[in-house]
Amino acid sequence: MESSSSPLDAEAVADLVLLDPLTEESLVQTLQERFRRQDIYTYIGNVVISVNPYQSLPIYTPEKVEEYHNCSFFAVKPHIYAIADDAYRSLRDRDRDQCILITGESGAGKTEASKLVMSYVAAVSSKGEEVNKVKEQLLQSNPVLEAFGNAKTVRNDNSSRFGKYMDIEFDFKGDPLGGVISNYLLEKSRIVRHVKGERNFHIFYQLLAGASPQLLQQLKLRQDCGHYGYLNRESSSLPGMDDAANFQAMVIGFSPAEVTELLEVTAVVLKLGNIHPSWALALPSSHTELREICELIGLDPSTLEQALCSRTVKARDETVLTTLTVPQVSRNTPNEQKKVMGVLDIYGFEIFQDNGFEQFIINYCNEKLQQIFILMTLKEEQEEYVREGIQWTPVEFFDNSIICNLIENSTTGILAMLDEECLRPGVVNEDTLLTKLNQLLATHKHYESKETQNARHVTDTSLPERCFRIHHYAGKVTYNLTGFIEKNNDLLFRDLSQAMWAARHALLRSLFPEGDPQKVSLKLPPTAGFQFKSSVAMLMKNLYSKNPNYIRCIKPNDTKSAMVFTPELVLAQVRYLGLMENVRVRRAGYAFRQLYGPFLQRYKMLNPRTWPRWDGGDREGAEVLLAGLEFPAEELAFGHTKVFIRSPRTLFDLERRRQE
Ligand code: ATP
Ligand code: MG
Repeated sequence: MESSSSPLDAEAVADLVLLDPLTEESLVQTLQERFRRQDIYTYIGNVVISVNPYQSLPIYTPEKVEEYHNCSFFAVKPHIYAIADDAYRSLRDRDRDQCILITGESGAGKTEASKLVMSYVAAVSSKGEEVNKVKEQLLQSNPVLEAFGNAKTVRNDNSSRFGKYMDIEFDFKGDPLGGVISNYLLEKSRIVRHVKGERNFHIFYQLLAGASPQLLQQLKLRQDCGHYGYLNRESSSLPGMDDAANFQAMVIGFSPAEVTELLEVTAVVLKLGNIHPSWALALPSSHTELREICELIGLDPSTLEQALCSRTVKARDETVLTTLTVPQVSRNTPNEQKKVMGVLDIYGFEIFQDNGFEQFIINYCNEKLQQIFILMTLKEEQEEYVREGIQWTPVEFFDNSIICNLIENSTTGILAMLDEECLRPGVVNEDTLLTKLNQLLATHKHYESKETQNARHVTDTSLPERCFRIHHYAGKVTYNLTGFIEKNNDLLFRDLSQAMWAARHALLRSLFPEGDPQKVSLKLPPTAGFQFKSSVAMLMKNLYSKNPNYIRCIKPNDTKSAMVFTPELVLAQVRYLGLMENVRVRRAGYAFRQLYGPFLQRYKMLNPRTWPRWDGGDREGAEVLLAGLEFPAEELAFGHTKVFIRSPRTLFDLERRRQE
């Protein structure tokens, strides 16, 4: 076991709960100092902060897994394995469903963290043949999801363009049985458009680089990226990313028939991009693509042609939610109580130069995660105090329900008003929406626009036209309303879904169930905002029923460099992640607690009555030991199994005396 550096090491405490004084600067400085020493993990209680090292560190070896396996959480250096171990053990031994919430901005290391958690759990659970098969499939879900859902962006070469929640199910022995994955808000618009220097989803490049000549021929594709309008030639290959190898990894685990169907649909998407918007002007190449697409999916070309022409051919380009649930694998376990570990890898708070519908939705999701974080932390504290038989005194904290409510209230929330505008007959546009928001939210403390500013005689009138501003827990964000209505409507023209449903292609048909003419409904489909709100509500309910574990990821610099730490960038993330509030909530009651046994072991030399040996019980030993040190009574509490210490200072004091 690594010699545990004292959790109280003055310049670089391993647990920020013990930071003294607690300021934004001291917090960032501590992370910086630890980063310099390549200690990328730091705790706030049992929350792990992870600073992306942008280099491969020798801390994920099988020996490390062994070291953290069954370790005592505070006896070893902070590590993501420690939190994974803690979660896994409470699931297996204490029968408590767990969830692991991973947040942070793009490139901060969320997806890598989720993979580390999964591989740790795979490494420490049992190794039967059957179990290994399940584990393999669980781990293999990553290459497929990343092929279809990740892309190079300016921030991250392997950026997840969707939020992911995966429930891993276990049997009573703690062996994995299978998993269920939900996706949130896939950035569909990337198919048709991405900014310079970025790429489309990996799958297209993987397919062209990795498929055999026969397969390409079967899919009626050319190998050259430059031939396809949706791809751009200059970034067809990426340093450090082997598209061909990833293609091979992606198809493992599927039957050949499944692979063919999947790739046919992929090829069709790519080829659709070559049908010029003005193809009706009879570009011969457009006609070739159209004919080939129809051969691939078993559809009469005139049907597709009509569907594309009967409306504007403008490609849809909005971001939208999917709440697809993909059952991955499952072993048969009749009559068995399953235990579940949920892993959430979801986009963090976003503040860009220009914030639109997507940022509004993403930040709403983060506001809800913050709310549930506070509720769950307080709940957990309260439960521990009850378990330990200690008096609970209510804690002061910033309750962000008022902001959640501003967005999601079913009558006066911004989403509800947006829906109302989307459904209202007559001229609707973002201006009428803004007028309505201004009327209803004129006095709301967390809402602002040019109009409300004028009415409130605010001196800062920097807000542009057509914009509103929300005071989020993490800071103020100005949203531009342009595009809100179209994106919220997210209508796919019925002609198109009906044409796709008519194809003789089972997978394609299953993707467009609404195209079934028997099921035509005159009701408009639910709006994007409504769907997102419902799936976030479902997610929150799911998370709330589990025991939470947090991993907060931080990106140290904007250049993907190892060893560079830019304090201003980190400070912004510390705010978006709500870390100060996190520390405050964690130490609002008792900052530190430890089981009697290890506590006595560590400090028994401070009192001649307990040194060199104490022959009684651990609890009595700890009581006798502390009684001799004359701390104020309110600083200490003795629970059934643990000793509680109220302020970090008292703990510092203990540590100092120990070092003397
Ligand atoms: P996005 O929101 O864009 O999906 P993310 O938070 O999921 O971003 P990752 O894709 O997990 O970010 O990480 C970005 C890159 O940072 C990785 O491809 C890898 O190069 C590096 N990285 C992240 N975590 C680690 C780690 N623990 N050790 C070494 N490198 C890492
Ligand atoms: Mg990611």
